[in-house]
Amino acid sequence: MTDVGALGPVYRDPTWRLERVELRLARDGVEVFVTGELSAAVSQACGRCLEPVPVVAVTAALDVRLIPRPATADSVELAPDDLDVDFYDKDEIDVGLIIETETSLALPMKPLCREGCLGLCPVCGGNRNLVQCDCQQRAPDPRLAALKNLAARFPR
Ligand SMILES: [Zn+2]
Ligand SMILES: [Zn+2]
Repeated sequence: MTDVGALGPVYRDPTWRLERVELRLARDGVEVFVTGELSAAVSQACGRCLEPVPVVAVTAALDVRLIPRPATADSVELAPDDLDVDFYDKDEIDVGLIIETETSLALPMKPLCREGCLGLCPVCGGNRNLVQCDCQQRAPDPRLAALKNLAARFPR
């Protein structure tokens, strides 16, 4: 168990909070293996309406191989299985950077501010959770149109 407080602020985004991290560093020659697990609470923009989603809980397994940064950037060819290879500089391992990278990779692609978020109107850009606009969709869904016609027949 790694003391989260001892790491200091690891995220550049101050709304992200590291809650738990377990790190194991193992060295094999010049290679350093970082394994472990982290959980964090981050805020993200809703994938539909772009409003901030207050807290997204993220857990990520860490499995990173670090090799010394080559003198010239293009002198190293990474093998196909080297997806999780990173570089370190001058014997210095930036644990915070690893944590931030792995957290970002673990984020959901499309977080939603809430179940059934209506998203933004593609015509006026308004947040349809907040305002009901009367924009005509460019390509109306025929099934929706049928529903609308049906609704119009029953005055509220
Ligand atoms: Zn939303
Ligand atoms: Zn609109």
